[in-house]
Amino acid sequence: MSETCAIRITGLEKVFPNGVRALNGVDLEVKEGEFLAVLGLSGSGKSTLLRCINRLLDPTAGHIEIFGRDITRVEGAELRALRRQIGMIFQQFNLVKRHSVLVNVLSGSLGRAGLFRSLFLSYTAEERERAQTALSRVGLGERGASRADALSGGQQQRVAIARALMQEPKLILADEPVASLDPALRHSVMRHIEALNKESGMTVVCSLHDIDLVTRYATRCVALRDGRLVHEGDPADFTIETLRHIYGAEAEFGFHG
Ligand code: ADP
Ligand code: MG
Repeated sequence: MSETCAIRITGLEKVFPNGVRALNGVDLEVKEGEFLAVLGLSGSGKSTLLRCINRLLDPTAGHIEIFGRDITRVEGAELRALRRQIGMIFQQFNLVKRHSVLVNVLSGSLGRAGLFRSLFLSYTAEERERAQTALSRVGLGERGASRADALSGGQQQRVAIARALMQEPKLILADEPVASLDPALRHSVMRHIEALNKESGMTVVCSLHDIDLVTRYATRCVALRDGRLVHEGDPADFTIETLRHIYGAEAEFGFHG
């Protein structure tokens, strides 16, 4: 049997209402089990790409198959079912700061209606147990009762990972998950994302700025420039020339590859 495609993107274009062409003909396949890093300067289209993949944004043209189903062509219950397979991790964590850590994690089990239910309804014992398990998995099993904003940035991002785990997703989209963190905390978050990939077999697509993190964690790397894919390869094969190609000739690198 051939390798299964987690994501197959063809001819993807996104033009915003103001006329900005953020994605300009992207073709990309992500195999099940890959840890794909997406590189590129600010404004190159990384967030737009990730948001089109789970249809937080509607593409202008092109197709995106998620495990064989075209997410650009489904609506309603089918779209929600497909989205449930996709866990999203954001640069700014997107936790409800004044809620407890556990309530933030529980909201992940419910998709988009979660916040309302987390405020007004109770959860089943089974959901609470799963939330507790997810928290323990990211090393925060003792912090469920804390207010979310009492935690460090690295811990808050681990809460966001636990929240994504509540969906039991097959695919994780992480949009610069460590860009808001002190460098000393970045590995503590990246290692948990790595564990989702290596231990739980989840496919990961993760935009990153730091080349060291790409070479350390990703199994493959692509780069965007002005909405087009300009590079695809093994992070171990990075050279200064590759980086110049991605970032432009004026870029400077402290390169230890
Ligand atoms: P990156 O995540 O790589 O920094 P983005 O995907 O956020 O890049 O942005 C790609 C391009 O699209 C940029 O030129 C950005 O200004 C533009 N853009 C992003 N979101 C919007 C939006 N909602 N409306 C208009 N333009 C946008
Ligand atoms: Mg972005």
